[in-house]
This record gives sequence, C-alpha cells and structure tokens, in this order.
Amino acid sequence: MRELVNELHAWLAWAEESGLQNLAPESRQTEPVKVEPKVKLPLLDAVRTELGECTRCKLHRTRSNIVFGVGNPEARLMFVGEAPGEDEDLQGFPFVGKAGQLLTKMIEAMGMRRDDVYICNTVKCRPPNNRNPEPDELEACEPFLKGQLGAVKPEAIVTLGKFAAQSLLRDATPITRLRGRWREYQGIPVMPTFHPAYLLRSPGEKGRVWEDLKQVMKKLGLPPPKGGAS
Ligand code: URA
Repeated sequence: MRELVNELHAWLAWAEESGLQNLAPESRQTEPVKVEPKVKLPLLDAVRTELGECTRCKLHRTRSNIVFGVGNPEARLMFVGEAPGEDEDLQGFPFVGKAGQLLTKMIEAMGMRRDDVYICNTVKCRPPNNRNPEPDELEACEPFLKGQLGAVKPEAIVTLGKFAAQSLLRDATPITRLRGRWREYQGIPVMPTFHPAYLLRSPGEKGRVWEDLKQVMKKLGLPPPKGGAS
C-alpha cells in the first residue's frame, strides 16, 4: 500500500509539473488512499478526465472524436504515432485503419498482442486533411502524453514515423537517421522507427523496422523472434 501511495504522489507531482492542474479533488485526497491493487487505470482515467471535451487548441473544431489511447494500463511498451487519421477520428481509437492493421501485425510478430501494449498519438485530435500537427497543437497536447506516460510508466517507447520522433525528441534529424537508435524521453528509452503507413507504401523497408523492433524486444527481455512481420 505504501508503494501505491508513493506512486500516486509521484504521479500527481508529475501531472502538476506537466500542467495538469485540475485533477478531480478526490484524486488528491491521499489520506487514506482507497486504491484497489491496480492503481494505474485510475491514474490513466484521471488524465482522460482532465482532458475532458478538450477545446485547448483549434483541432477540436473539426474533430469527430478525441482519440485518447488504448491498451494495457500497465504496458511495458508504448507506441506513439503522429495523430489520428480519418478512421481513428470516426471510431475514437488510435491505429484502427490500414496502418493500424499493420501495426497490430508488428506487435504480434514481437510475440505480444495488441492488448498487451499501450497505443496513442502525439496529438489526440485529427488535423484537417491529415496535415501535420502544428506547434501550438502539440504544445496543448503534450501534457496529456506526459500524463499517459506517467500513468502507464512503460519501460520503452516506440515512436512511429518522422513526426512523432522529431516532435517528441525535439530533434529535426531525418527519420532515416533517427530510426534504429535508442534515445530518451522523460527518462524512458525511445526507439524511433518508420510509420506503418510508410511501410504500406514502401514494403521494402519492413526489414529495417523489424531490426528496430528486435532491439526493443531485447531491451524488454522478450524471447527471440521466430520470424519477421509479413
Ligand atoms: N497514424 C497515426 O499516426 N496515428 C493513428 O492513430 C493512425 C494513423
């Protein structure tokens, strides 16, 4: 229980530092803390509650649904993409279109199921016509990505595509040079790799992505792969 209380305190400190000011009052009443064995889902829920029906940036005007994130609240691995596309916007879940189907295959090739990992994006609302998110949109959304990271506490992050890597790492190096090399975000190891949508257009690059994912498996101590993603 002491560990859970400490974890909750640490997360609240992180949330405040990240600009998440208006947490539900009950989540601040830590004496005594009434938490069931799984504390991470309530923490993730607190981040979602704080996000609310967000109007912090202009993307709210054109979105159909906020695409917060899905997966295991205790995931050891988090995938971070760029922004929701049309399918995601309509359904409210990340990576549910064609690129998402390939991402699922990549996760399965690593010996996991989609439900084992946590999947989200740098911004939670679809930019019109799938344009890149703009700096003010990223800035408005970053506290929520940090909140998700603080709640899930993954052991590693895989960024998908140029945009997620460059914006998370604040590094304009081309993705061809960023990919395949460990970096860090908020103290968490980050492996940048190509976006599955790019792999759909350039299937010849799948081998490179597989090399990146094998590095992630090694870091997580997952059993060696039997083969590559198809
Ligand atoms: N591309 C992304 O970057 N994110 C999604 O959720 C879907 C497609």
